[in-house]
Amino acid sequence: MDQVRLTLHEVHALAVQALSLNGCDGENARAVADTVTAAERDGAKSHGLFRIPGYVKSLKNGKINGHGSPVATRLGPCVVAVDGDRGLAPLAIERGRPLLIEAARENGMAACAIRRTHHYAALWPETEALAVEGLVAMAFVNAPPYVAPAGGTKPFFGTNPMSFAWPRKGGGAMVWDQASSMTARGELQIMKRDGHDAPPGAGIDKEGNPTADPAEILEGAQLPFGGYKGGAIALMVDLMCGPLLGEVSSMQAGAEDNKDGGPATGGELILAFDPAHFGGDDPIGRAERLFEGMLAQEGVRLPGDRRFAARQTTPSEGVEIPLSLHQTIMELV
Ligand code: NDP
Repeated sequence: MDQVRLTLHEVHALAVQALSLNGCDGENARAVADTVTAAERDGAKSHGLFRIPGYVKSLKNGKINGHGSPVATRLGPCVVAVDGDRGLAPLAIERGRPLLIEAARENGMAACAIRRTHHYAALWPETEALAVEGLVAMAFVNAPPYVAPAGGTKPFFGTNPMSFAWPRKGGGAMVWDQASSMTARGELQIMKRDGHDAPPGAGIDKEGNPTADPAEILEGAQLPFGGYKGGAIALMVDLMCGPLLGEVSSMQAGAEDNKDGGPATGGELILAFDPAHFGGDDPIGRAERLFEGMLAQEGVRLPGDRRFAARQTTPSEGVEIPLSLHQTIMELV
């Protein structure tokens, strides 16, 4: 497949341009471009420029408010609420973060309840940003129904991901971020685009038969990872982001969505814990010894290390995106 090489600066500028010329104000365009560029920088292709056409579709048809101005408030000592104003999630997350950090440092733990946003991105940007501030973080988001519950054959849950981040001694973070489905939907879309098979167990066709054809899975249903264990996590994420926040479940998000392929409306929950409040002796140092023990085994790496390795090269070497994607985005600017 023909590729186009772009610097990270060009990635950011292209994203800003495509979003600004199609209904986003400057601040929203910049916030989304930051997450798109971070994904390209870290080699997380399914959340990089690949997402821009979907964002633009939903901006143009009015599903997403490109001028959304999220408002963050402290609901109580430990709970921060963000009204996303029907806009894109990155700006809502940014506006909630300072209050969440403040509340976690005051109380030992705090939650940020984000409502009325459209989330289309990876979750590690939000958890990593808290870990570099010295906080342990978790984030959860639900999505329209693509995944059958364990034992079922019809889409019911979103690919409902969760992320966890832990602060490292001397700065940085250990971060993992994973869908509760066997495969993230964006990855399946890329497999379909590039003519690759889906991994075993990724999904079933419309009749409920196992298939490796990503197009059939996208029409049928994805499956949770690890059978009922991933299914239980998908259920937890749906409860945390739907009923707990007073927001839509995956099924409701799907029913309310205009099915344009862009991000549906929904909520996100972010949790932050300040290790200094938990009475443990040197939690960060003890964690380092735990990581060392784990890494002593050959073949073991920490989650997030693949992305951190990509960060070492992409700022100088740039990134490659498919020529067809570049052409699609150029038609939007
Ligand atoms: P992956 O299966 O690619 O990776 C999951 C996690 O496992 C990553 O943290 C990864 O770290 C880690 N990992 C992978 N291999 C190893 C290994 N050998 N040893 C240790 N750790 C490892 O992610 P998914 O496909 O499940 O999800 C992709 C993205 O999609 C996520 O960022 C998720 O947030 C996003 N998503 C967003 C949705 C939305 O609605 N907004 C919906 C669903 C998913 P590393 O990165 O270093 O490889």
